[in-house]
Amino acid sequence: MPELRSLLAAATARLGERADAELLLLHVLQQPRSWLFTHADDELDTDVQTAFSALVERRAAGEPVAYITGRRGFWSLELEVTPATLIPRPETELLVELALQRLLPDAACSVADLGTGSGAIALAIARERPHAQVVATDASTDALAVARRNAQRHTLGDVAFLHGDWLAPLAGRQFDLIVSNPPYIEAADPHLVQGDLRFEPVGALASGTEGLDDIRRIVRDAHVHLHPGGWLLFEHGWNQGDATRALLDSAGYTEVFTAQDLEHRDRVSGGRRGG
Ligand code: GLN
Repeated sequence: MPELRSLLAAATARLGERADAELLLLHVLQQPRSWLFTHADDELDTDVQTAFSALVERRAAGEPVAYITGRRGFWSLELEVTPATLIPRPETELLVELALQRLLPDAACSVADLGTGSGAIALAIARERPHAQVVATDASTDALAVARRNAQRHTLGDVAFLHGDWLAPLAGRQFDLIVSNPPYIEAADPHLVQGDLRFEPVGALASGTEGLDDIRRIVRDAHVHLHPGGWLLFEHGWNQGDATRALLDSAGYTEVFTAQDLEHRDRVSGGRRGG
């Protein structure tokens, strides 16, 4: 029987990515990553080997690791993801950080996350701000089911999930903070038909010819849903900082800004409802 070490080396060679091979093997074994270091010499039985090579072949055919394992880490949370949800990305943690900077740790506050997908942003905020009342919306009932399971799994405070497009389910309500990671890729971007993106819901990725259709709607519609002084913050593409600030300015937001991610690319813009 082959040792774990050699199985992993072969899978790494096949996939060109050791991290992917490890995640798939740990998923088959249902073990945490720390387990690998103390079990490299273990011999793995045939069932494990067969199951592992089936997953390696799915990955080799292009399927994202997160959809194969049904899991992805975001912030301090391990989240369930399915093909109904976007796979949470590390750069989106910037949006969470900027949101937390605007929410006092011990004060009651209200937050809306538009197009929550797996619930990543809403649940990270709920984890860090236990006094926050968080509402998350999504147009996909399948995505909302995943987000609800993620909320239950982590037994996080006050998070409600509502079905509908962007702000539609929030009629008559106002918030201290509205956040969103909307779709923002240009509809003709060739990346949409390459790599992992092929497997993700296109409605969560692409948004019209300039990628700005949904951001335009959110900027326009969010203003009346903010308390005076409340913030709108949203993620966008590296080349959309100027355009999104112009949208925020002309919709009457104040303190309009763009923040850059760890790779120094424009990533999140926002503004405040005047007092
Ligand atoms: N950041 C993602 C990507 O470029 C897109 C996510 C989104 O459209 N919200 O792959």
